[in-house]
Amino acid sequence: MALVVQKYGGTSVANIERISNVARRVAKTYDQGNDVIVILSAMAGVTDSLIALAHQAVEEPDKREMDVLLATGEQTTAALLAMMLRAKGYQAQSMLGHQADVVTDSAYGNARIIEIGAKPLRKLIDRHTIVVVAGFQGYDIKGNITTLGRGGSDTSAVAIAAAVKADVCEIYTDVDGIYTADPNICPKARKLKSISYDEMLNMASLGAKVLQIRSVGFAKKYDIPVHVRSSFSEEEGTMVVNEDSGMEQLLVSAVSHDKNQARITITKVPDQPGIAAKIFSPISEEGIVVDMIIQNTRQGGKTDMTFTVPKVDFKRTMQITQKVAGEIGAEEVMGDTDIAMVSAIGVGMKNHSGVASVMFNTLARENINILMISTSEIRISCVIEEKYTELAVRVLHTAFGLDDEETQV
Ligand code: ASP
Ligand code: MG
Repeated sequence: MALVVQKYGGTSVANIERISNVARRVAKTYDQGNDVIVILSAMAGVTDSLIALAHQAVEEPDKREMDVLLATGEQTTAALLAMMLRAKGYQAQSMLGHQADVVTDSAYGNARIIEIGAKPLRKLIDRHTIVVVAGFQGYDIKGNITTLGRGGSDTSAVAIAAAVKADVCEIYTDVDGIYTADPNICPKARKLKSISYDEMLNMASLGAKVLQIRSVGFAKKYDIPVHVRSSFSEEEGTMVVNEDSGMEQLLVSAVSHDKNQARITITKVPDQPGIAAKIFSPISEEGIVVDMIIQNTRQGGKTDMTFTVPKVDFKRTMQITQKVAGEIGAEEVMGDTDIAMVSAIGVGMKNHSGVASVMFNTLARENINILMISTSEIRISCVIEEKYTELAVRVLHTAFGLDDEETQV
């Protein structure tokens, strides 16, 4: 007998028929002798519609009221599932964020969970009631309703699993697991049996498409095994786990790509102490996250600095950088958005050398120029021209032995 937390995403509860499919799955898990806590998202598209509705009502919706509005999406699905389970004869009850005691800070629209008082959940679980919790929402110490940022019900699920010390947290979504690369561009990508928290955290877009990244940090901190799987099949998905827990031993586990980065270069920056702080402080003060930075030393006490930021922040960062460049007497600011980052990720790299050279040689063989490189213990990333992204992912996938040999291409 286990305590199972199951989270179903928007596509899994998109209409009554699908919610009834969820009810069937939950009932089955319960009938196998488990206690079940279900966390739900809003029906697919509902959160977007509610946001649009608010903007029809007023130009700039009040943030507190926006969260009150958005929380209704999850309230709807939680109530529907609970009533369907009850109609089947199960003891089931819905709970909103505050009823489940999900305490957050007061950052409306992007609140962080501070703690979850497990008592209200425990009380019901001890009576073997199936609890259906509205995901994505909590409340602050003043009692205001808050929401956890887009995709936040993943984080609700993992945090609740941690609070009640669940045996597993299953995340049901519309993909059947985590792949060695994006199957849309790499036909030979295959589903991984398991992947570590750290690899997942390093997978940028590949991972973020499947799970809210914040939830992975939570899972790692509390060592909660997360099973990512599809609500439309019975097949096992991918386990996201601690790296010591008997994972597949691969040198490289995945090749990911990210087309959402842009590159900015400042030329002839005076090479003096404090210069990097002058350039990057105003950028981070704007809440813009700089990913890679490289600095080239030139002759005559001048240096070039190149760095990447998310594409959505490109224009703003250019403006800030141009202003700073003027102040510090740099020569020129150049930017381009036609870049992509490809990365090889794997905890296996920690104990092996040579991964970087395989990566560089493979790209060289295809005549793909590397614009920037960064490495960490378990990741090597190269910035390349955007138009080569698909090719780069495919050849690297092959080079690292990840191809699914059964795929007919
Ligand atoms: N309904 C929210 C969203 O669409 C939260 C979630 O689905 O995880 O972002
Ligand atoms: Mg999601």
